[in-house]
Order: sequence, then C-alpha cells, then structure tokens
Amino acid sequence: MTILIENLSKNFNQNRVLNHINLEIKTGSLVALVGPSGSGKSTLLRIIAGFEKPDQGRIWLSGTNATNISIQKRDIGFVFQNYCLFNTMTVYENIAFPVFLKNKKNPYLLNKINNLLQLIRLEKFAARYPTQLSGGQKQRVALARALAKNPKILLLDEPFGALDIKVRKELRIWLRRLHTEIPVTTVFVTHDQQEAFEVADEVVIFKNGSIEQIGKPKDIFDYPANNFVKNYISKKVKNIYF
Ligand code: ADP
Ligand code: MG
Repeated sequence: MTILIENLSKNFNQNRVLNHINLEIKTGSLVALVGPSGSGKSTLLRIIAGFEKPDQGRIWLSGTNATNISIQKRDIGFVFQNYCLFNTMTVYENIAFPVFLKNKKNPYLLNKINNLLQLIRLEKFAARYPTQLSGGQKQRVALARALAKNPKILLLDEPFGALDIKVRKELRIWLRRLHTEIPVTTVFVTHDQQEAFEVADEVVIFKNGSIEQIGKPKDIFDYPANNFVKNYISKKVKNIYF
C-alpha cells in the first residue's frame, strides 16, 4: 500500500511539531524516519496510524484519502519500543490474539501462526510467557503479532531502542530479511543513524518538524543536501561504506 503524505502540519499547544510534510512511501518499501529526539518522527507515525489527527494536510493510502478514516479501518500493524505483550498469555497466544478475535477455528489462521513462529525463530518457545523471554525475543513476538493480521502497513517506533547494541544489530539484519520474505510497506522510526542506513531502502531525515532530505542511504551519504545532514550522518554511518 502506497502512503502519500501531503502538506501535513501538526501543532501541540501552539508549538509546530510537523511543518508542511510531503512524503511518498512506495508499496513494499522499508523507509526509515531518522532525526534528533523531538523532531516529530513519532508524531508523524502516529498520524499515519490514526492515533493523532493532523491540523492541516492529508494522508492518502493507495489513492484513498484516509485523513479521517478510523484506526481500525486503516489495516495497520504497530510495534512500539516497550514490547506491549500480554504477560498472562503465552508466545503463541500473544501472536494468535489478533487473528483469534476474528475466527478461532480457521485452519488457515492456525497455519499462519505456526509460520510466524518459524519466521521469528521461536517455535520452541511457543508455550513460554513473555517474562521468560529476552528483550530481543519479546520484540520478535511483538513483530509477529503485528504481522498476524496481514496488515497492509507496518509501523515500527524505535522497536529496538530498549535493547543492547549487539541484539539491536542482530535484529536489524533479521528485520531486513523478514521484509524480503514479507514485503509489507514498512515505516521505521529510529534516532540511530546507523540503524536507519543499514535497514532502509529509503531514509527520511527530520529536523524540528521538517524533512531535510529524502533518499537512498548511499545517495544521502554521498550527496548530503545541507550541512545539518552532513554533520548528522557523517561519523555515524561512515563505517557502513568504508
Ligand atoms: P520524536 O519521535 O522525533 O522524538 P515526537 O514526535 O515524539 O518526536 O515529538 C515531537 C514534539 O512534539 C516534541 O517536542 C514533543 O514534546 C511534542 N509532543 C509529542 N506528543 C505530544 C503530545 N501528545 N502533547 C504535547 N506535545 C507533544
Ligand atoms: Mg519518538
């Protein structure tokens, strides 16, 4: 599903948090929103999901004006930084929960949950509870749960932000592979430049509620649009390319 953001602005208490944002996210791509803390990344993600309304501008989902469409009708999977798993449910039940809400006995759905368990490499952990998992494993369960509904869009807000650097690096490689297998249109928010540049097909650089540059990671690295972008990425992503 293509996401088109058209001239979108948002204020909180008279403060401009997003300022005339224009952005196209193509079907099946993995796009990272990166920028300093407070630059508006999460707000834009929450507006795409329908948790917040913009003050100005529109959101188009596959050519339909979705600006005033409810969260439920947008067909979106969302993963937050802090897991948000149900602690009284097993791994299997956590992943199954959104699909069981629809139809508990559908064999196709049962098969799908087993496929997702394989995909996150936690088949052997299906009967465990979240408290018996590491942070990285919990976040894989959260991703599987978000994918279980077959969403048309996957939104990830600092999904690996609570994990240590080694696990984060493993998970970004894993996410990249997962996206090749299930190429759902994905928007990934991070404040970690290296993570953004390693994972994404396209990177969007934010500063103070505005977009400074949009492009393929290597193109941004080679041709930063301005001094802010150049300084923001130069040291952090250098070792990806050299
Ligand atoms: P980022 O995700 O890039 O760190 P956010 O989108 O979370 O940035 O926040 C952008 C700005 O909007 C910040 O100054 C933040 O304090 C403010 N903000 C975000 N959500 C709210 C809210 N619900 N009420 C008031 N201010 C908010
Ligand atoms: Mg944020």
